[in-house]
Amino acid sequence: MRALQLTEPGVLELREVPIPEIGPADLLLRVGAAGICHSDLHVLDIPFRMREQPLTLGHEIAGTVEAIGGAVDGRRPCERGVVYLCWSCGVCRECVGGNENVCRAAGRTAMPPCPGLGPDGDMAEYIRVPASSFVPIGDLDFLQAAPLADAALSSYHAIRGAREQLGPGSVAVVIGIGGLGHVAVQILTATTAARVLAVDVSADKLELAARCGAAEGLTAGADTAREILDRTEGRGADAVFDFVGVDVTARLAVESVAPNGAYRMIGLGGGAPEITAAPAGGPGWPWGASIRKSYGGTKSDLIDAVALATSGRLWVEVERYALAEGRDALDRLERGLVTGRAVLVPEP
Ligand code: ZN
Ligand code: ZN
Repeated sequence: MRALQLTEPGVLELREVPIPEIGPADLLLRVGAAGICHSDLHVLDIPFRMREQPLTLGHEIAGTVEAIGGAVDGRRPCERGVVYLCWSCGVCRECVGGNENVCRAAGRTAMPPCPGLGPDGDMAEYIRVPASSFVPIGDLDFLQAAPLADAALSSYHAIRGAREQLGPGSVAVVIGIGGLGHVAVQILTATTAARVLAVDVSADKLELAARCGAAEGLTAGADTAREILDRTEGRGADAVFDFVGVDVTARLAVESVAPNGAYRMIGLGGGAPEITAAPAGGPGWPWGASIRKSYGGTKSDLIDAVALATSGRLWVEVERYALAEGRDALDRLERGLVTGRAVLVPEP
């Protein structure tokens, strides 16, 4: 089969490789579509020590069941689905409690094994996955389904964790209307009562946010925090979802979140919010606000996101690429040129 592989840091090659073998608890999927995530750019650039084998990228997986391991119950050939990206232990206290994204086996700051980061990913014609990670999608289009596995999962998880803040009369700010942000605007609109303010540097992306249900779009700049305060009677936003996560957006979140509000860091741009234990007054952190660095989501979040999509209340703006165009798609993503999500389709 053909696979898009990282052969050394920064080098991506389309290679002919064997179709993966599966174990008794695995499925072999024929890949229908593979979403491209901003973290794939991080994986490209990290100067990690290479494995003995090159690594196939891709963790937004949608495909068809091609072969079923001998110990797997309840799956059938040709079933269509997406893959939950936390390949967690499944038996620890967190996993059993439904928090597989913070599986105890991963330790304190790492994440559970994720396809395309340790095990081979799905920028290929076939992929081996644990059968427990499979979530059926009915007849949902693969191009729409693949981004649910991370873009919708991570957005849904961050929003669900801030639901207490998002009652009637509340305001939610979404910073960064990219692959995750435009999905987050729809999830907020479909599952909460919040009025959504979208923030981005690009007019095109604010236009996308409006199509996704945002009430207003703010062009990111030096005055954005002030504009958010002006639109919220000086209180700030009840929840701020930062899908960029660089210093300037971290500062914006700190300066625009309301008392008792929720600041959720989803974008992993390395930004460092400045929060001090200081008395009231000034532009700093308000009383009672909470901050959470949000990794992925739970399997139940993915099932919910799939249900939103199959019921027609969540769609993904997609740019389609062939497998051989993966490098170009990543370059476009890095330059901020992708509208919505770039998705690879392995069929020739
Ligand atoms: Zn991702
Ligand atoms: Zn676990």
